[in-house]
Amino acid sequence: MSRFLSGRFAGLKAYVPGEQPQDCNYIKLNTNESPYPPAPQVLEALSSEEIKKLRLYGDPEYRFLRETLAAYYKVLPENIMMGNGSDEILSFIFMAYCDKITGVSYPDISYGFYSVYADLYGIAKNEIPLRDDFTINADDYCSAGTTVVIANPNAPTGLCLSVEDIERIVKSNPNNMVVIDEAYVDFGGESCIPLIGKYDNLLIVQTYSKSRSLAGARLGYVIGHESLIADLDKLRYSTNPYNIDRLTMLVGKAAIEGQAYYDKNNDEIVRIREYTGVELRKMGFELTDSKTNFIFTRHPKLEGSRIYEGLKARGILVRHFNKARISDYVRITIGTEEQMDAMMTALKEMLCL
Ligand SMILES: *Cc1c(COP(=O)(O)O)cnc(C)c1O
Repeated sequence: MSRFLSGRFAGLKAYVPGEQPQDCNYIKLNTNESPYPPAPQVLEALSSEEIKKLRLYGDPEYRFLRETLAAYYKVLPENIMMGNGSDEILSFIFMAYCDKITGVSYPDISYGFYSVYADLYGIAKNEIPLRDDFTINADDYCSAGTTVVIANPNAPTGLCLSVEDIERIVKSNPNNMVVIDEAYVDFGGESCIPLIGKYDNLLIVQTYSKSRSLAGARLGYVIGHESLIADLDKLRYSTNPYNIDRLTMLVGKAAIEGQAYYDKNNDEIVRIREYTGVELRKMGFELTDSKTNFIFTRHPKLEGSRIYEGLKARGILVRHFNKARISDYVRITIGTEEQMDAMMTALKEMLCL
């Protein structure tokens, strides 16, 4: 830190992304990417003709992309805004709807970026403990008196709240925003998008990173009442109106056109998740009932940090969080069946099974 950094940021702890080794000799099961390539339509969307057009700015409203997504989700283009990853969308949301007075409530164990954005923008934080079994008690968020942010399914637990519970939270907070982060909803969860027509205090955040094999493209979106999208667009235009580059816009549209391919891949990931769960339980692992593209697991005879280190030594990267209540656990992204088998062979070796 230099002596010039504003005192506002002196105590800020930045988000720490999962390891991204660039030599690629690892089986990479640590940042919830897809093991499958993007849809064929995406590969065809990029041509040297399109690359030549990079001399021009893109459409700051990315009209064609919003229209494609709107048709797919049966909403209007006015109900959608895009972000450079859903992380950027979350940044705009925290900026727009929280401050020192209107704080933010979210689970104590959830996506790590929520507390980082709260600190970045000087927002009062209300971290609500999950129950001992890691489930969210919806009652804790009713009449919260703050903005509410919930990942559904939650990360890194993989557990879901029902749409009925979320609707109850939304109804009980008519004067506060409720934000549902659905980064993992395509792996067996249920989306709250159908509720946005009924409530003007609900935002749904989704991403192309996990279920559409496009983590590297950085594309996320938010769906909600048009007055809310207008708020967020105001902040986007005040920060970076060209936040989606020309090539990524094309990729985003092509990916929706390839949705049938992704639906098939996501079914396969769910199948591999269930298969892996059965095999791990046979080895004595305990797992949460994950509805995502990862599992969250512990073993009574092996600490979380030892699982992480042992797998890394065997060429397999998983995620360990050195955090109270979950330090026994590791989060393992669902890869191909071959990758899962290699991971389980390594675990058997470590457990001398
Ligand atoms: C991965 C993830 C995000 C961010 O995804 P982007 O790559 O920025 O779109 C947001 N929320 C949760 C819960 C995530 O796991």
